[in-house]
Amino acid sequence: MKPEPGSAAHQAPPAKKSYRRIATEEAFTIPEQMDVMREVVANSKEYDPDLFLWNRTLAGGTLYSRLLDVDDERLRIMDHDGVALHLLSLTSTGVQMLDADKGTALATLANDRLAETIRRHPGRYAGLATVAPQDPARAVKEIERAIHTLKLNGVIINSHTNGEYLSEPKYWPILEAVAALDVPLYIHPRSPVPAMAAAYRPDHLEHAIWGYQAETGLHALRLIVSGVFDRIPNLKIILGHMGEALPYWLYRIDDRHHRARNNKDRPLLQQRPSDYFKQNFKITTSGMNWHPVLQFCLAVLGADNIMFAIDYPYQDSDEAVAFMNTAPISEEDKEKIFHGNAERVFHIPA
Ligand code: MN
Repeated sequence: MKPEPGSAAHQAPPAKKSYRRIATEEAFTIPEQMDVMREVVANSKEYDPDLFLWNRTLAGGTLYSRLLDVDDERLRIMDHDGVALHLLSLTSTGVQMLDADKGTALATLANDRLAETIRRHPGRYAGLATVAPQDPARAVKEIERAIHTLKLNGVIINSHTNGEYLSEPKYWPILEAVAALDVPLYIHPRSPVPAMAAAYRPDHLEHAIWGYQAETGLHALRLIVSGVFDRIPNLKIILGHMGEALPYWLYRIDDRHHRARNNKDRPLLQQRPSDYFKQNFKITTSGMNWHPVLQFCLAVLGADNIMFAIDYPYQDSDEAVAFMNTAPISEEDKEKIFHGNAERVFHIPA
């Protein structure tokens, strides 16, 4: 009888020490982001699920100091856990809660700082550019600068901007720009759009417990059904948290999408929704250190579409590394997930 996944009999042999471990959803901040978010929090009158968390972070403590640190404790933790490289991104909500001018200016500053950090620690960091989708035209310019001049490795957007998703045509220039530059766009969570968040509020489910995944999964699904990938076939999207639950739901999405294919509210697609998910998306393991889900995603998406991530400092580095070290999967797949896919997808030198 085959042992149950996760049981002692199913454990892989102890991991060799020599993996190159690249972690692909690792957060940092700069003091200027903290300062401007302190203003936003101070000026807010009603409950906002993202500002609720910002308020906590800004109060100080381990999370605050770990987000600011890129030269010290972070590198020691990486060394201790055998993590070679963090792919850094400005922590959620990035610059997306600011007005267009402030957001664009802070994105530029954050990207400059990120490039300096990467230069200061050769081989230890890579980075995703922050942009302000509030101003799509300037966001496109910043993407081009971040990739061409700063040599960053992709772009990150924290789900909705002012309640809107990137499936809105006004944001398509951003999607066209990343595709033209052959870099991926990481769609990182934030709390749900206001209409969705209201239903989660009574039980306080609007954050990572469920709301982030519901928000970001919906965002990705709306990109798919909007026909964006027929327009921009080489657009590459990254989702964290093992694909924000979409892999589990692909069968049902295909089935219901096909049955309602004459639905006038949606464009006809050239392929099934799951085909786009397999071709245009990669997922990371951030915050989902659970072998059965990893094995399921491997079966559904294949080993070329999954990358290791910790979600430092929001999740524990040692736990994420131990999860992947002990994953009951082939050594070949483990090498792809730990570093091979990230090197290819984010153009990180091998
Ligand atoms: Mn994260």
